[in-house]
Amino acid sequence: MDLRIAVLGGDGIGPEVTAESVKVLDAIGRRYGHEFTYITGPVGGTAIDMTGSALPADTMNIVLGSDAVLFGAVGGPKWDNPEIPIRPEDGILKLRKNLGLFANLRPCKIYPQLIDSSPLKPERIQDVDFIIVRELTGGLYFGKPKRKWENSRGRRAVDTLAYTEKEIERVVRVAFELARRRRKVLHSVDKMNVMETSRLWREVTSELSVEFHDVELHHMLADNAAIQIVTNPSVFDVIVTENMFGDILSDESAVIGGSMGMLPSASLASAPPTDGKKRRRGGKPALYEPIHGSAPDIAGRGIANPMASILSAAMMLRWSFGLQEEADAIEASIDSAISDGYRTVDISSGGGNVMGTSQIGDMIAGRIRTVSYTHLTLPTSDLV
Ligand code: NAD
Repeated sequence: MDLRIAVLGGDGIGPEVTAESVKVLDAIGRRYGHEFTYITGPVGGTAIDMTGSALPADTMNIVLGSDAVLFGAVGGPKWDNPEIPIRPEDGILKLRKNLGLFANLRPCKIYPQLIDSSPLKPERIQDVDFIIVRELTGGLYFGKPKRKWENSRGRRAVDTLAYTEKEIERVVRVAFELARRRRKVLHSVDKMNVMETSRLWREVTSELSVEFHDVELHHMLADNAAIQIVTNPSVFDVIVTENMFGDILSDESAVIGGSMGMLPSASLASAPPTDGKKRRRGGKPALYEPIHGSAPDIAGRGIANPMASILSAAMMLRWSFGLQEEADAIEASIDSAISDGYRTVDISSGGGNVMGTSQIGDMIAGRIRTVSYTHLTLPTSDLV
């Protein structure tokens, strides 16, 4: 296959971790005979410094001419001044909106070898394997009016939470489809006790469940979901929720795995293909990124964990290109490196053979050549 990938490293550790994903993709290309062409462009704070825009037109054109996007992270203290009208985060928000990426899929899987890195007791998390499907282009982050102003009575600010039934239906449908290919349990999370948008969310989800009678649907309030994720996370298979709840609950889920550095994500504009085929060219590309941010506290020190980014590249191969075996090979290489005791600082718990970002990237890329694999992540691999 000849594939064009837009690589947008962004700020902080973003470029550091995406560079390791490129190494691993190159190793995949060599083993399986694929040609990957990478086109890079600035985004986020770096792009603001260079062009005054968090998503320059040239970068957007690169994205539109590619088959998929591998994204790093944006943001950092340099651009944190609330008075600045353009923020690095505008770059990723605009990308999601322009590409219509309404479904953000965030798998949360516990590696048994890393169970000691989790702040939770091992018996609570040993069987955890769930996916959060977060609505990504609506809700509070995009609703208008959105502004801050001052009048004679003082300062005021408003954000708007609005959803249409179409926006709810399309993302909940993705979640039902996913659940159908996994353990057939779907938790829909809302705050219907206090919010109109949540009451609509629950109504639309219940109506759609008639089409998916083989999937067990549970409605859960967001507060309870936050509690269950840390007390009883193995009950979950697929969770679907609106943008802000999904943002918060998926970061909480990341922590139970032990580190933000281990969790990938995919942002899609349609349900994942079910036939194992590459998405047709000409459509808008999907975007793959680690769930972590730019980690300014460790940026430039060469110690960031690149595995979330590398696992995002595996999701890209599987879901945008239908390259199942290649994705399995990446996941197996990471699994074997961890089993052999190789660690980055964030997952070391004071033990293991601790390596820097580039060293661990080399180690994982090196294993691609020889690794053997079965379908290690069966429930997710079953998607295509
Ligand atoms: P963060 O995810 O950047 O960092 C949280 C903590 O996790 C930090 O202690 C960091 O060192 C650690 N961490 C994160 N990724 C790691 C990795 N790969 N390896 C090892 N440790 C890792 O979240 P934050 O500190 O809240 O945000 C920092 C900046 O990132 C902010 O400007 C925020 O707006 C931005 N951000 C961007 C995105 C994105 O681009 N999609 C997402 C979240 C946050």
